[in-house]
Amino acid sequence: MSVLFENATIVTVNSGGDILHDSAMYVKEDRIVEIGDTARLKAKYGDTAERVIDAKDGVLFPGFVNTHSHSVALACRGRAEDVSNWDAIWGVMGSIRDSMTGDDCYVASRLAYVEMLRSGITTVADSGAHMLRVGEAAIETGIRAYLHQNFRDADATLLRDEGRYEYSMERGMKGLGDAVDLVETMHGKEGGRIRCLLGPQTIDTVSPKLLAATRGEADRLGVGVTIHLSQNEREPRQCLEAWGDLPGPMMEKAGFLGPDFTGAHAIFLHDEDIQALARNDCSVSHNPQINAKRAHIAPVSDMIEAGINVGLGSDNMFYDMLEVIKTAGIVWRLRVKDPTVPHPSTIVQMATMNGARALGIDDAVGSLEEGKVADVVMMDYARARYTPRVRENVLSNLVHFGAADDVALTMVGGRILVDDHRYVGGNEEAILEEAQRSGEEVWERAKVDWELRTSGGKG
Ligand SMILES: [Zn+2]
Repeated sequence: MSVLFENATIVTVNSGGDILHDSAMYVKEDRIVEIGDTARLKAKYGDTAERVIDAKDGVLFPGFVNTHSHSVALACRGRAEDVSNWDAIWGVMGSIRDSMTGDDCYVASRLAYVEMLRSGITTVADSGAHMLRVGEAAIETGIRAYLHQNFRDADATLLRDEGRYEYSMERGMKGLGDAVDLVETMHGKEGGRIRCLLGPQTIDTVSPKLLAATRGEADRLGVGVTIHLSQNEREPRQCLEAWGDLPGPMMEKAGFLGPDFTGAHAIFLHDEDIQALARNDCSVSHNPQINAKRAHIAPVSDMIEAGINVGLGSDNMFYDMLEVIKTAGIVWRLRVKDPTVPHPSTIVQMATMNGARALGIDDAVGSLEEGKVADVVMMDYARARYTPRVRENVLSNLVHFGAADDVALTMVGGRILVDDHRYVGGNEEAILEEAQRSGEEVWERAKVDWELRTSGGKG
């Protein structure tokens, strides 16, 4: 397939932060071949391009990178939004997730991926349950995915029922073995569109020994590592009590940190944590929307000032990157009490290049540049919410007013998956209907107890 976009505004997110106007971009197969003046590229490629898209009302962005998500949690939507972080993880979501079969996970993930693509997400790092079936959903929908299977050496039942930690290396190694199986089965599929990570679950539920073993396997397999990092106050407290170190130094001593490490959330960080992450060239997935929903704001500006690479993630139940982008700007300002920072370009960079860097693919995606893989989003800019549209306000309009409904086209590796605002990689109506039917069955089996909603927060 070859596509010529013409008369477009192109937000390149290249090293100079160039925004081009009245420009064209020619894509052939999976690559961006050339970017430049519309008249010139039209003369060069206009006759041979299989499709010419007049993007005079469009703005092209690099595909968004969602650095942390759980697509199967789509089935929990509306259930875990009004409880504490601790109750969500160890309480209310558990009964629903435990009631999900492989089929349920497959159909939930498929719909979540379609939602992501419709909001311009072209790459996602995703973990949950029945990950082989989730992998099938990623293969089928066309999204670029980094799959991983969570594991831990703490006993989850004991933690849920008694709030007590009991670690077993045997349990941890069994979980790591299963996670390695997923990597060996899925990593590199679809010409490399499907890849894997190793992701122990949360920093308080793993031992330094399991972190060291995970690093050994990750290096052997050539995959990156990730973990939920200090999402609630209890996690760093537990690390100190159990191992005598805060999470950052604990991971550093276990040899777990490195440029291929992404810590998800990173809310309750101490200076020692930030220093350890910065010293080891680590990345963080900032998930502003779910954090704010649970009354938390991560110290994003502190992390960025220290030199940590910060990307954006949607996490559970939220799969709309334009909402994540908008919230990222708002919570940053609330935290530092300054409406002049960050500049919208910083947020766009976080949603694209920083995410690509976290996953180690910034040489291939994350910006619109010649020779790069064609992961592209085209926003329809001729909308009331962006009016008046002038050249200078493109980034500000996207960050503050952007909406997924305006994603006119999403392309992953040169393949158009959202076209004219509709998912065209499969039957969207059937995908939605199946997720609805399966969700109803899951909730029926889970016998959801609404009283739990008011159980209050621990940790
Ligand atoms: Zn998560």
